[in-house]
Amino acid sequence: MIWNPNKECMSRDEMSALQGKRLHKIVEYVYHNVPFYRHKLQEMDLTPDDIRTIDDIVKLPFTTKKDLRDNYPFGLQAAPQSEIIRIHASSGTTGNPTIVGYTRKDIGVWSECMARCLTAYGVGRDDIFSVSYGYGLFTGGLGAHNGVEMVGASVVPASTGNTEKHAKLIRDLGITGIACTPSYALYLAETMEQIGITKDQIKLRVGAFGAEPWTEKMREEIEERLGLKGFNLYGLSEIMGPSVSYECQEQNGSHINEDHFYPEIINPVTLEPLPKGQPGELVFTTLTKEGMPVLRYRTRDLCSLMPGECGCGRTSVRMTPITGRSDDMLIIRGINVFPSQVESVVLSMPEFAPRYLLVVDRINNLDTLEVQVELRQEYFTATFDTPAAIDQLKKRLSDKLRSVLSISAKVQLKAPNAIERSQGKSVRVIDLRNQK
Ligand code: ADP
Ligand code: ZN
Repeated sequence: MIWNPNKECMSRDEMSALQGKRLHKIVEYVYHNVPFYRHKLQEMDLTPDDIRTIDDIVKLPFTTKKDLRDNYPFGLQAAPQSEIIRIHASSGTTGNPTIVGYTRKDIGVWSECMARCLTAYGVGRDDIFSVSYGYGLFTGGLGAHNGVEMVGASVVPASTGNTEKHAKLIRDLGITGIACTPSYALYLAETMEQIGITKDQIKLRVGAFGAEPWTEKMREEIEERLGLKGFNLYGLSEIMGPSVSYECQEQNGSHINEDHFYPEIINPVTLEPLPKGQPGELVFTTLTKEGMPVLRYRTRDLCSLMPGECGCGRTSVRMTPITGRSDDMLIIRGINVFPSQVESVVLSMPEFAPRYLLVVDRINNLDTLEVQVELRQEYFTATFDTPAAIDQLKKRLSDKLRSVLSISAKVQLKAPNAIERSQGKSVRVIDLRNQK
């Protein structure tokens, strides 16, 4: 089934024409409504009239996460506040989180895009669908929720947490579909096994998994343990939220909703656009967004765009799975964590040397984070025989980390020089998940 064949199956020529028309309109819109873009275009001697076809996009400037943070909170918002009906925020980095405002039309487009994803997964009116992405500022929960309602399935807004109760609901309500992170899906499977809910007692058949990278190996394991078929769901809040791209039944790449989100792949170092098929950094321009449109937003996600047609009948371009990021961001339990955030906390406390190490692991299918920090010599000498002082310091550090990272981390205090030095670039992260 295809939710909107008019848009998902249009000819390539029609699609390019539509994208060109929309691009011109959006450039004109931001030129008149967002001083940031007006200044950038003026600096480059560009006016909206220079952007007529979709190929003109390469003339436009890039937008980065830093631009969004520098203009916190509403600097890049194009629509007047009276038109904004919802505000989300991405988990943020060292500085400010990214704030994204949506107009009523934006929420409509988002729901439509999400409905396209769910339909491609095979979700319909008869399904009972649990949304187990976090509800809140994170776009996952409400984003998926609206799409399920639009498709007409019964939405169960389970959110995350309370996994035992959720597992029982899946059994008792005969829930057939679930949207969550792949790691949560495995955790759920484990919880079910622990409380004795077996695969034949549940009716799950479709999973919409995303918000973090996952592998084919993980897909196989989730499918086997929950007895469902797992589909990829990709998105990011700066562009919209979940529903930027989705797998169809062919499961050979994820179709991009490119009538709304125009993709490019660039070389992250030279910023040169790369031809289809070559891997690089994914860049999106929002073609219809009113609240916070972005021009050539650098996602830092690495993948490639796939040439050729898909057996499902959709003509929209597909992207390969994300293989990594062009920066050092970690995704732990679905939350973005930057080593620099840990650094900012460590450096703010005089007791510590600027030596730290993040050890990330996956234990019982849940991501874990341990932060090792070195004590300064003076502090070490003064306190090493007073465990109470050490405990108190540990607690202060973990409280601070929790408030900055939005996830809890296990803290390990190390004696001076205990953290291994490296000869070249310092190693700040050991991600044991990559070795499993
Ligand atoms: P936050 O910034 O609050 O974590 P976002 O939703 O903006 O929330 O995070 C988006 C990022 O999550 C993407 O840029 C990408 O790195 C990652 N991501 C989302 N979906 C997928 C997916 N299906 N596969 C791999 N990575 C994904
Ligand atoms: Zn397809």
